[in-house]
Amino acid sequence: MPQPPTLKISEIFPSVQGEGLRQGEPTIFVRFAGCNLRCAFCDTKYARTGGTKITVERIAARVAAVGKKFPASWVTLTGGEPLVQYLGALIRRLRADGFRIQVETNGTIYRPWPVDWLTVSPKPRRWSYDPRFRRRADEVKLVVTKSLTPAVVARLRREFPARVPILLQPESNAAWSRTRGRRLLEEALRDGLENIRVTVQLHRIYGLR
Ligand code: SF4
Repeated sequence: MPQPPTLKISEIFPSVQGEGLRQGEPTIFVRFAGCNLRCAFCDTKYARTGGTKITVERIAARVAAVGKKFPASWVTLTGGEPLVQYLGALIRRLRADGFRIQVETNGTIYRPWPVDWLTVSPKPRRWSYDPRFRRRADEVKLVVTKSLTPAVVARLRREFPARVPILLQPESNAAWSRTRGRRLLEEALRDGLENIRVTVQLHRIYGLR
């Protein structure tokens, strides 16, 4: 008999979305294990490998159980890199259960699945992504590392539609990175680039996961 499909999960937990335009909203996080990149600044290195294989049914049941104690309407699928795995069945199932779905991706693996909020976060040093995400992204999130330059911000601003905000997020909320982000924003303004914003990682300020 064929076995039901499984997905490799690192953790499932309730919190508040600390990043991007959905910042501050109660959210249940499903963190997938595995990633196709190895970013130096990665703050979820533990999720790049390992994980536990769980069926879609059991993941949905665990999300529902978390939702009973923490009735958030959003589920964020994150990683690792969630799109390494085939999430179509899980997304359909969680939406059928009434959740709105956000996916956070590094943008290197394109998948056509419909979601309610798509965060594309290209990574250094190349800051590359699959161009099919341009029409799908709701926001572009850039970690302000030393390799994020005004030229990179300008290129991404040209490539994504003007309605899609480009968010400059400080690396680990560090002071040097906030300063760099502010300078990048000022330079973008001088160059006439629109819809670029600075942000913080709100969950770190609140001491949440
Ligand atoms: S893409 Fe994300 S999870 Fe993967 S190594 Fe980079 S920061 Fe870590």
